[in-house]
Amino acid sequence: MIKTQKIKIQPNSHMTKVINDLFNYRRYIWNQSLNLWNEMYDSSLILNDKKLRPSGAKVRNELVFNKADWQFQRSARVLQQTVSQLDKAWKNYFNPKMSNHMKPKFKSKKNYKPTFTTDRARLVKGKLVLDKPKEIDKSEWYPIKLIEPVRFTGTLKICTITELPDGVYASLSFETEDNKNLPKLDRVVGVDVNVKHFNYNDGKSINIYPKKLERYYKRITYYQRLLAKKRLANPNNFKTIRYNKVKTKLRLNYLKVSRLQNDILQKFTTKIIAEYSEIHIEDLDVRAMTMSKKMGKNLQRSLFGKLREILTYKCAWYNRNLVVVDRLYPSTQLCSNCGFRKTNETYGGKQTLSGDSIHHNHQKYYCYNCGVILDRDENAVNNLIKYNDKTMSLLGK
Ligand SMILES: [Zn+2]
Repeated sequence: MIKTQKIKIQPNSHMTKVINDLFNYRRYIWNQSLNLWNEMYDSSLILNDKKLRPSGAKVRNELVFNKADWQFQRSARVLQQTVSQLDKAWKNYFNPKMSNHMKPKFKSKKNYKPTFTTDRARLVKGKLVLDKPKEIDKSEWYPIKLIEPVRFTGTLKICTITELPDGVYASLSFETEDNKNLPKLDRVVGVDVNVKHFNYNDGKSINIYPKKLERYYKRITYYQRLLAKKRLANPNNFKTIRYNKVKTKLRLNYLKVSRLQNDILQKFTTKIIAEYSEIHIEDLDVRAMTMSKKMGKNLQRSLFGKLREILTYKCAWYNRNLVVVDRLYPSTQLCSNCGFRKTNETYGGKQTLSGDSIHHNHQKYYCYNCGVILDRDENAVNNLIKYNDKTMSLLGK
């Protein structure tokens, strides 16, 4: 099982230069490979010969064969990894199932996120040692300090170094054996996702919209407006020092949001995975669509996407069962006590954001069949818990 930890690194000035060179080298290799790829493809078309079509291996061999002298001063693994990343990007592009199937593009200096990947980095005495090209002397190669200890034991497989607005980070992926199998349980949890909180069993909920997050959202909106104004005021020459300063602030706030969201989600998922063996969640795409614009819509939407992503891999790690409830399942309309379903035709009408047409109470679910009055969120959670693969056919839709 592969587990990844992202740690901020503190290279000395010499290694900072090495890392910056590798950022540029990765961009160089990417563009070279893409160019070669396109050329090979064109010639296969012109000569009408399928054997000439490009592949990751062909492009890599060509690049290795034609290496310039200075390239021997750079990590050979970065070249290999870059070409295989391009290969993957092409495969994604031709796979309609992938959500992000963008055509691989040349990377300009301006729009390049500095990053590179190597599969030969090692950890020595708690420090990160990048793979040293043979041409470089041992005395010119320094271990890199990690600002927090590594959590996983096992072999370090892949190391990706990335520059973010607040420093340089290493994503370290380990092949680990420590598959902590949690105790076998037989308990189902339903997670009802709301804009400000997740509700789950027995009226429990967690706040996913702390004051801090709200402040970040407000700042992001503010900085975005400020930048837009500057662009409008001076369309031909807006990239001033002031402009870039604001942009950096904006990027820092995005980073803070993403970290805070990740923190909330990690804690929540760890908790429910420890306590329950089967997790029922709504199809969150639909939920995200109905959100108000005010509350950082796109940012909250990305939170829902992340919840599903984290649950998917954590359930796989710990042998838990993840059930994504059908998007047509009316979890807010059903009575979890008797199974009655509110529709536009039934007495009282549908349950909407402001209750039904008789009781305009957002917080309550009034059942006009069995007479029970339930908390709206608890009712939805209980319906999610009851959901199984036969539910939809029983509902007749
Ligand atoms: Zn009922």
